[in-house]
Amino acid sequence: MNFETVIGLEIHAELKSKTKIFCSCSNKFGSEPNANTCPICTGVPGTLPVLNEEVVNLAIKAGTALGCTINKYNKMDRKNYFYPDLTKNYQTSQFDKPICSGGNVEFEHEGKHIKVRLNRIHIEEDAGKLVHVEGEPVSLVDYNRVGVPLAEIVTEPDLRSVDEAVAFMKKLKSILEYGEISDCRMEQGSLRCDANISLRPVGQEEYGTKVELKNINSFRELQKALEKEQRRQMELYTYGEGHKVVQETRRWDAAKGKTISMRSKEQAHDYRYVVEPDLPPIIIYDEQIEAAKNSLPEMPDAKRERFLKAYELTEKEVEILVGDKGLAMFFEKVVGFAVAPKIAANWILGDILRILKDRKIESQDITIDAENFAKLLKVVEEGKISNNVGREVLEEIFDENKDPMKVIEEKGLMQISSTDELEKIVADVIANNPQSVEDYKAGKTQSAGFLMGQVMKLSKGKANPKLAKELVDKKLSEL
Ligand SMILES: [Zn+2]
Repeated sequence: MNFETVIGLEIHAELKSKTKIFCSCSNKFGSEPNANTCPICTGVPGTLPVLNEEVVNLAIKAGTALGCTINKYNKMDRKNYFYPDLTKNYQTSQFDKPICSGGNVEFEHEGKHIKVRLNRIHIEEDAGKLVHVEGEPVSLVDYNRVGVPLAEIVTEPDLRSVDEAVAFMKKLKSILEYGEISDCRMEQGSLRCDANISLRPVGQEEYGTKVELKNINSFRELQKALEKEQRRQMELYTYGEGHKVVQETRRWDAAKGKTISMRSKEQAHDYRYVVEPDLPPIIIYDEQIEAAKNSLPEMPDAKRERFLKAYELTEKEVEILVGDKGLAMFFEKVVGFAVAPKIAANWILGDILRILKDRKIESQDITIDAENFAKLLKVVEEGKISNNVGREVLEEIFDENKDPMKVIEEKGLMQISSTDELEKIVADVIANNPQSVEDYKAGKTQSAGFLMGQVMKLSKGKANPKLAKELVDKKLSEL
């Protein structure tokens, strides 16, 4: 029997506000544990939350960017559950009246146009973080993340393959990044998702039993976790054990490379949602929606169109550049320094991406500035240094944003393009390799290549290759 995969995602994006959702603690990542806390976010009895207007505006912005209906009347609710990282024993979230409803995300995938409907976006507070101390019977808790504002974006089960789900996440990430709604640093957990996956026989209307995979925080893990779970369910159905696919929550264990059952899936009523009595309903004004709309910068689809028109790049190149806001911005800055777009794109998609990967740096943190990078590309284009030397210089200047001209000068890397200087080197090579010269005369033309290699070696790679080759050929023809 053939099966069809059905996937829906719930994405948690930390909103880029200066302060937390209900207090004035900093919403900055990477502080000392428990440094960004106060009686409100640590849930001291008697304290009262105050909703951060910036969080509401960022959620409206997200809703606007994703084509949602903004609900002018929405409210906060308490979702009750116990866990040591949750200071109040309930999470202040939104239940039946979320801030945004509907909306969709559209993208191209393997030549197909895909439209994924969104169910809703609601705002809520994040929980803290437990740190399990290895080899010791203790767990530590860091409450810095408590009260960090989240937008939970819930899709309809519209995705039909693992690859589609990953492509969807990439598109959503780029929208949130371009919109400056979330910084989407997946490695820091500011963008993460839960995935619901089920299988059904091809042609069947109703959905199969779904399994929820928790807390996935990279594209790679999303791919691996879904593939693994898809295979697990497929095997159970194929071998007549379909009844073992039960509605449950499974944790993706990246280290073990498999999903592990955590608990049977709780129902909404298990959380005993109640209206948050300490916060009034949220009323949104038309002016707020208008302001959010106007504050959206150029979004990925518009940028893609513009790049395709403005620069002579392939669709694939544009897709990779625009898919990553940091790269796209860097590219445009470099082009702004009068570098040909094609050349800038080649270097960025080749060498810059490689360096970022090697050094595990996100594109938004590229250390070299566009001006220094552009200078380097120009000297390579002018033939003053070779591509290979250019690459070495890039490695050298990248981390500390050095001026490439200084490095080239200090290390004497300029190509030798003076005929006089090169003629001397060629003459030396010919004099020192009589056997190769004899071979050449005897008809072994490949000896010319060897002699050329010797010229490059003797010049420490600095000989202008075109000129050197001309001189070697000339010299040999004169013998
Ligand atoms: Zn606080």
